[in-house]
Amino acid sequence: TELLAKPIEKIRTQMEDLQKADASITRIRELFATQSLVTDGPGTALPDGPLGVEFRDVTFSYEGDTGAPTLDKLQVMLKPGEVLGLLGRTGSGKSTLARLLLRFYDPQEGVVAVGGVDIRQCKINTLRKRVALVTQTIEIMEGTVRDNLTFYNDSITDDQILDVLGDLGLLDWYGSLPEGLDTKLASGGGGLSAGEAQLLAFARVFLTNPGLVIMDEASSRLDPLTEQRIEIAIGKLLTKRSCIIIAHRLTTVQRADHILILENGSVIESGRRAELAANPESRFSRMLATGLEEVLA
Ligand code: ADP
Repeated sequence: TELLAKPIEKIRTQMEDLQKADASITRIRELFATQSLVTDGPGTALPDGPLGVEFRDVTFSYEGDTGAPTLDKLQVMLKPGEVLGLLGRTGSGKSTLARLLLRFYDPQEGVVAVGGVDIRQCKINTLRKRVALVTQTIEIMEGTVRDNLTFYNDSITDDQILDVLGDLGLLDWYGSLPEGLDTKLASGGGGLSAGEAQLLAFARVFLTNPGLVIMDEASSRLDPLTEQRIEIAIGKLLTKRSCIIIAHRLTTVQRADHILILENGSVIESGRRAELAANPESRFSRMLATGLEEVLA
């Protein structure tokens, strides 16, 4: 057995390497599969300023999914500058709706319009510059802090970046960076706390100034100081742009002009927040009474 120990150890590590390689190849395949699902549009321009949103009878299923559609004849209407609170249990289709807005996929039926333009007519790059997705976990690219915050837009100055970091209470974090804005970040977001990651995602939005923001609010609790900073940042986020918030907290939901509740890919309730809240029969007011966390689990 002494004699065999070394070769067996070697085979074991090789197996592990192979498994890792296999996992990466699967991820790369998924990435390419996603990219090949949509084709670039001719390049219709999007209007400046806040962007409205419209889903007209949108039906969508993921490839190979033969069950009921993931989104079924979805109707959404949001005027420029308004805030939509998107509610629904896990699996109801909220993230899928967000992915369609950024054209990670195209629907099988219906039209998704942003700023009055069918998004299949826009260049994908243009669309993704004007529509920002703020997720719970920021996607960090291999590159410097500056690159990660500006997406290589060199018309954004360092002073502008520092102003935004100051507004978000991130100057202490900035002070801890060995090479300031030139500090390299590893891809995957390593080294950032959950609160810092979410605040940096906001910093990105304020610097790139999109006309529509889709925000997937963090569902986990952060420390009180970070919570307070995020509260302030959300308030700023909602001024002068349209916003769709996948909300997990009451304080955030109360900032919405409209509410849309999804269940199994269909809208089960929508309307002005104030009206739904005032109607004791509405699902929304019942949700508020039960507590959002309970209902949305
Ligand atoms: P939510 O964001 O409300 O939790 P999702 O949009 O993530 O809901 O999911 C809606 C449905 O689509 C779920 O049944 C989920 O399992 C399915 N789904 C989500 N992403 C994919 C995917 N990439 N491929 C296949 N099915 C998916």
